[in-house]
Amino acid sequence: MSDYLIKATGFDGQIRAYAIQSTNLVEEARRRQDTWATATAALGRTLTITTMMGAMLKGEDKLTVKLDGDGPTGTIVADANAKGQARAYITHPHVDFDLNEQGKLDVRRAVGTNGSLSVVKDLGLKEHFTGQVPIVSGEVSEDFTYYFTSSEQVPSAVGAGVLVNPDQTVLASGGFIIQVMPGASDDTIDYIEKRVNHIQSISSMIQAGKKAEDILSEIFGNEQFNILEKIPVVFHCNCSLERIKRAISSLGNEEIDQMIEVDGGAEATCHFCNEHYYITKEELIELKQFGELN
Ligand code: ZN
Repeated sequence: MSDYLIKATGFDGQIRAYAIQSTNLVEEARRRQDTWATATAALGRTLTITTMMGAMLKGEDKLTVKLDGDGPTGTIVADANAKGQARAYITHPHVDFDLNEQGKLDVRRAVGTNGSLSVVKDLGLKEHFTGQVPIVSGEVSEDFTYYFTSSEQVPSAVGAGVLVNPDQTVLASGGFIIQVMPGASDDTIDYIEKRVNHIQSISSMIQAGKKAEDILSEIFGNEQFNILEKIPVVFHCNCSLERIKRAISSLGNEEIDQMIEVDGGAEATCHFCNEHYYITKEELIELKQFGELN
């Protein structure tokens, strides 16, 4: 089944909700980053939540999330836009630990418990919006919960789960973000808080094959919610040979000369999608001339 996310509201707009099914997206990221199980969960949770955050944007806006913990995975970076396109990168993919005491992938140990979570939103303006909070948990979802409440001042509940098969592929992945809008009544807040604290874990829900709509049904209980939009979700990287060439030509003629003379060409790999690019000697000479003309 294809991945998608839904945007919804409930309680007459007092609650805004997002839910996602991200199994294929996370599997694609896993395959391209070659992550091992615990790293897959850390990368997948970050990517899943970032993709929902992309759906909070409009038009051509996009955002980048950087989870920079002191654990063995190193920095995790995820990008998403308002069209459901997302990609992610992990510094050290080969991280796998025994399951934790709850029998779950030990994401906290992989990510670390010291460091920062930062969000940069490119809203097409000169200045980018940037928010940053310290890592409070290392389990990722709790760190985003803290980010929304502390940096954006929107009380939120965030959940994301990734289950990995014995052969390392992704069995299931999904998540939700529930946000309390300004002016929400105490009754509404109480109700949602209780529901979020008492529902089964997001991992159990996705293991049971629950869809994005089912996740919200669990959270809203007997209360109605209105689905505003359903957005298909895909792994998408905007790298290209042209971009790589532009980056090389900006290095300057001296460095390009070195590539021509020493290496007889250039090779580059995209950190996000792991696509390899080869630039021939002839192409490098062209880039150099292009640089000189400008
Ligand atoms: Zn790429």
